[in-house]
Amino acid sequence: MIKNTTSVLGYRGRFAPSPTGELHFGSLIAAVGSYLDAKSHDGEWLVRIEDLDKPREVLGASYKILKSLEALGMEWDHEVIYQDQRKDIYENVLTMFNKRKLIYPCTCTRKEISNSSIAGISGQIYAGTCRNNIQKDGYLGAVRIKTNNNIIEFKDTLHGLINQNLQNETGDFILRRSDKIYAYQLAVVVDDSAQGITNVVRGADLLDSTPRQIYLQKLLGYSTPTYTHLPVAVNNNGEKLSKQTKAAHLDISSPVKQLMQAVNFLGQEPPIELQRENIMSFWEWAFVNWNLEKIHKKRIIRLPTR
Ligand code: GLU
Ligand code: ZN
Repeated sequence: MIKNTTSVLGYRGRFAPSPTGELHFGSLIAAVGSYLDAKSHDGEWLVRIEDLDKPREVLGASYKILKSLEALGMEWDHEVIYQDQRKDIYENVLTMFNKRKLIYPCTCTRKEISNSSIAGISGQIYAGTCRNNIQKDGYLGAVRIKTNNNIIEFKDTLHGLINQNLQNETGDFILRRSDKIYAYQLAVVVDDSAQGITNVVRGADLLDSTPRQIYLQKLLGYSTPTYTHLPVAVNNNGEKLSKQTKAAHLDISSPVKQLMQAVNFLGQEPPIELQRENIMSFWEWAFVNWNLEKIHKKRIIRLPTR
């Protein structure tokens, strides 16, 4: 399905939105940051729709996201891929992990988990209650991967060295939920590798997920891309902009204005006159002037109220 899987020589980046709503200022940051970093390296930029979580998907959102990217003058290389069409591939990875005795079914209820766990960096640290369960055909419950006591370390382009001990900080994490939905952590690793992604540029809300992804990459013998985690825009209440916090859709009738706001947020300093130019002139300026050093090295930035 994905024809061009080799990263050959060059840079290959991606934008991987979840179709839980239309593009908004928060997701625009990840789109623009990943696009500019790819294009300023003469690289390719791919779009992948992360539509595994069907209960959270909004009908028509994928289409609208792609239309908005087009309206903003952002062109992707190669076909868009949809994770929903790749479930067999994720299942094969689970089968392989099962043969290596790396995964197990977890039948704990939510209540059992909250009674036996302590709070970790992202959710509860699973206590490993079901570790000795054996995975048989026709899974029961969620599928978890065994973690260990090693330190996973990587260097983020903006945030420097980050390390995590998965056993202590996340515990054995879920690769497939009990409702049979493959977890983001699994799918993102499989697809970044399948698409030959060399550079991941995304929001810093995913910084703490990266060690889990590197752990899976190592188990699968994949290479680890370079990671750059951009600041995340939060509203006045400190909440990430999202559909849940009622972030406004982008007004794509004024694309250059939106793009100017996005690059400003990313610390770039576009000349004010650019606002009157067309999309092409905006991108010309942005490709040449994109400078990672100017991006704020913060995890979150509060947006001024408008
Ligand atoms: N689909 C994820 C999101 O929209 C992003 C995944 C990623 O960039 O790794 O939050
Ligand atoms: Zn369990």
